[in-house]
Order: sequence, then C-alpha cells, then structure tokens
Amino acid sequence: MFIDTHCHIDSYERHAGESFDALLARFRTSSFTTERSSAKEKAAAAKIAQPEAFIHVACDPADFETARALSEKYDNIYTAYGIHPEYVETETAEDEARLIEYLAHPKCVACGEFGLDYHYGAETKAAQVKLFERHLQLGIKSGKPLVLHLREADDDALDVLRAANLHDTKIHIHCFTGTPEFVEQLLALDAKIFVGFTGIVTFNNAQSVRDAAAIVPIDQMLLETDAPYMAPVPFRGKPCHSGYIPFIAEKLAEIKNVPVEELYRHCRENTRKCYGI
Ligand SMILES: [Zn+2]
Repeated sequence: MFIDTHCHIDSYERHAGESFDALLARFRTSSFTTERSSAKEKAAAAKIAQPEAFIHVACDPADFETARALSEKYDNIYTAYGIHPEYVETETAEDEARLIEYLAHPKCVACGEFGLDYHYGAETKAAQVKLFERHLQLGIKSGKPLVLHLREADDDALDVLRAANLHDTKIHIHCFTGTPEFVEQLLALDAKIFVGFTGIVTFNNAQSVRDAAAIVPIDQMLLETDAPYMAPVPFRGKPCHSGYIPFIAEKLAEIKNVPVEELYRHCRENTRKCYGI
C-alpha cells in the first residue's frame, strides 16, 4: 500500500487530456496498454498500481478552489496549499490571506509547496528569498507540515532554513534534485525532515540524486510522483500519473538494498508520521 505524497491532479488532467475519473477507471480495468504495445511495454504496464490516497498540491492561488472541490469529492484526496516561487512577482497580500483560509480546511494536510527556484527564476532571487522567509513563518504558524520546493538554490535555502526556528516542524523536501552534500545539510537541520523522490531517481543522468537517496535514512523517505511531470523510466517524457509510483519504489529499494516490500512499509509509515494519514 502506498500514497502518492505529491501530485498535481488538475495539471495532470490538462497536460494528459484525461480526466481523473477516466484515470481511475483505467486503474480499475488495468487499461494501460493497447493491442499495439510491445511485450516490454506490457510488462511495464503490469506494474502500474493505484495509490490508496493522493496528496494533491495546489501551489497557484488560482487553483485553490479546484483543490478544495477535489478533496471534498474524493475521500482519498488530501490537499496541500502554498504559493510556488514562480508566482513571486504576481502574488498579493490577498493571496496570502486566502492561503491561510484554505490551510484550515479539514482535508488540508500541509502548507506548500513553496521555496526557491533559481533554475527558472534566476532573475528574481532576492524577491524569492523574501517570499520564502515570509511563507516559512506563515507555514510554521499554521502548525501543518511544510512542503518545500528547493531547486538550484542550496546556499540561500540553507541560510533561510537555519535562521528559522524549525524545531519539531515536519518538512517534506519535495522532488529532491540536489546533491548528496545538500541533502546531508538538510538532514542536519533541527526539524523533522522527510525527503521525497520522484521518477527522476530512475533517469540515467541522475546519478547524483541516487547518491543523495543512498544517504537518506529509509525512515525519512517519501514516495511521490510530482505528476504530471517527471514520469519514471520506461515512461519518461509521457504524462506522469500516480500509478507510476512502483517504478520509483523499485529504484529506491535497489539503492537502499532492501526488498521493495520493506521500502513500501517504511514509506507508508513515514507518510503517517509526516502527514498524519
Ligand atoms: Zn509539485
């Protein structure tokens, strides 16, 4: 049993051109191949499995309402609300006030994702740091676990995190793409750190992410897809959905040198410890 601890269901619907209900129907009927699929594709498709639950992340204030509706329609969809650093130049005080309201929703299990992204936002670094500091305080005050997006901003991220009082705060470092050195520094923070790995761990060119996964204790790992992007091998480049978690789990089990059942058991327990579900 597993939970996809980080996915964007509305973006999946837009990106894949398939409704969530249609995806659920495909899970029920295991319809992931066509007559034209190769034997290799069929073998891979047989591993696709439905998670028992989903944490749907809304990180654009314009999508908060859709997220609330999704979580009220489906028992097994939980939500996280935050403001992604890509909105640093458009977000308003009103957005932050709405964020606080949505964080109080009964199906909301976390505040995020928010953080720093210098890969796409190199020209807004100073503004991103200010927003990150403010949202970190807002998130801590909410008492919810925090979901952090940290990309190519290691030094500034560590400065902001070290300056905050994170004691006892649960933090999901989501879609880890950094180096072993960075993950080591994150794990050393005075906080309850969990590190999420996506399909990137299966990519040929992601050895440094696998090296980072090797040093993350198994009781601090989380399984996530970040759907609709970063589909694991052998689906790389296709729209990513939560059914691809088994490919990520297999790779992490191989890295940690444990049977995949043991990896699942730990990640399920870690999800409970971090998110309370
Ligand atoms: Zn995300």
